[in-house]
Amino acid sequence: MDILPLVAGERVAVVRAETYESASLKAAVAQALDLLGGPERFVPRGAKVFVKVNLLPPPSPPERAIVTHPAFAEAVLTLLREITPRITVGDDVDGSESFEVTGYRRICDRLGVELINLRERGFVEVGVDGDVLEKIYIAKAVLEADVVVDLPKLKTHALTRFTGAVKNLYGIIPAGLRKRLHGDHPEPDEFCRVLVDILRVARPALTVMDAVVAMEGAGPANGTPRDLGLVIAGADAVAVDAVAQMIIGLDPLGVGTTRSAHARGLGIGDPAEIEVVGEGIATVRPEGFRFPPAVGEFMGRLPPALIRWIVGHLQARPVVTRGRCVSCGACVRACPVGAVNLRGEAARIDRRSCIRCMCCHEACRYGAIELVLDPLGRLFRSIGSHGLGRRKRQVSPAEGNNDG
Ligand code: SF4
Ligand code: SF4
Repeated sequence: MDILPLVAGERVAVVRAETYESASLKAAVAQALDLLGGPERFVPRGAKVFVKVNLLPPPSPPERAIVTHPAFAEAVLTLLREITPRITVGDDVDGSESFEVTGYRRICDRLGVELINLRERGFVEVGVDGDVLEKIYIAKAVLEADVVVDLPKLKTHALTRFTGAVKNLYGIIPAGLRKRLHGDHPEPDEFCRVLVDILRVARPALTVMDAVVAMEGAGPANGTPRDLGLVIAGADAVAVDAVAQMIIGLDPLGVGTTRSAHARGLGIGDPAEIEVVGEGIATVRPEGFRFPPAVGEFMGRLPPALIRWIVGHLQARPVVTRGRCVSCGACVRACPVGAVNLRGEAARIDRRSCIRCMCCHEACRYGAIELVLDPLGRLFRSIGSHGLGRRKRQVSPAEGNNDG
C-alpha cells in the first residue's frame, strides 16, 4: 500500500443527505466524490481496495448511530464497484454476530463484496518510528490492499472528544493491543498521538464520513443520535475530521488527533488551509451539538502544574448505575487494568485502579456506565463554559439529555 502525498489546500466536500434512503444517499455520495474530482482520482481502476467501516463492538443495530450505517457503506461500495471488483469490507469485531446485527452481512452479500473480521486474517508487525510508538501490529487485509477507503461515523468520544476518520483506524490493530495502549497511554493527548502514529502507517486514500445521523453527548456508544444530514468526504482523513469538527462547533486544532496530525505533516487540520466545496460550513452547522465533559480551551493559558491539577478533576470517571446493569461482563473484558469486577449483582469499579480510559463506557450497551465529574470538575467546567468565552455549554452524560 502506497502512502499518497498530501496536497496543500486539500478539498473537503460537504453534501446534504437527509436520510439513509438508498437512491438519494447514493446520489449525495456520488456528488461528494464528483466535487473532489471523481472516485478514480483516489481508487485506480482494478485496484485492490480495503474499506474500513466502524463496527464498534459489541454488536449494535444501525439506528443507535454507533456504527457506520450499512446503507451509507452500500452507497459508497456501489460506486467503488464500478471501478473495481476487488473490494474487501471489514473491521475487528468480537464475532460474526456483529455483521448480522449491523446489517453488513446483508449488504455485502447483495453487492458481492467480501466482508471480513480483521482478526481472522491476522496482523503483521510494522515499524512506526512514531511520536509514541516504535512498532505496531496492523491487519493484513489493510497492508495487502492497494488502497484503503475510510468510512467513519461522526461521533463524540469521552476520551478523545471526537471520533471520526483518524480514530476509526484504531480498529485495524488487534483488540488486545487496543486495550493495552489505552492502559499504557491514558492521558488524552498522548493517546491521540498514538492514534496519529497509526495513521502514519495506514493513511487512507479516501475518507467518506457518515454524518447523516451522528452521535452527540456520551459518545462513542452511549450518546444520542443526532440528525446532521451530511456526507463529508476528502482525500485527507485529517482534513475531513477538521471539517466535521468545525461543523459541530469544535476548534479542529483543539482536538488532539487533528492537532497532532497537522503538526506532524500527516494531514491538514488548520481550517485556513482547507477548501470546503459543496455546502458552506455555516449553512449546515447544528444548534447546540452536545459533547462529553472535557478540558476547556481556556486551560491553554494556565501554568502546566495547575493544568495537570485541573485536568485531574475535569476527567470524568465511570460510575455504574446498578439498576441498568445486566451483568453482561462486557466492561470487565474491556478494562485494560482489571479495575472492573462482577462479584456482586452489578459491575463494580475500583476507583483507585481506574485510569479513566473510558473503555468500559464504550463497551456497555445498556447505558449502565455514566461519566461523572467531581464537584470541582463541575465548577471548572462551568467556568470554562460560561466564564471564559466558551462558545457552547458542555454537558455531562450523567446529567442526561436535558439542555435542549
Ligand atoms: S455495566 Fe454494562 S457492560 Fe458492565 S456488566 Fe453491567 S451492563 Fe454489562
Ligand atoms: S474502569 Fe473503565 S475507565 Fe476505568 S480503567 Fe477500567 S475500562 Fe478504563
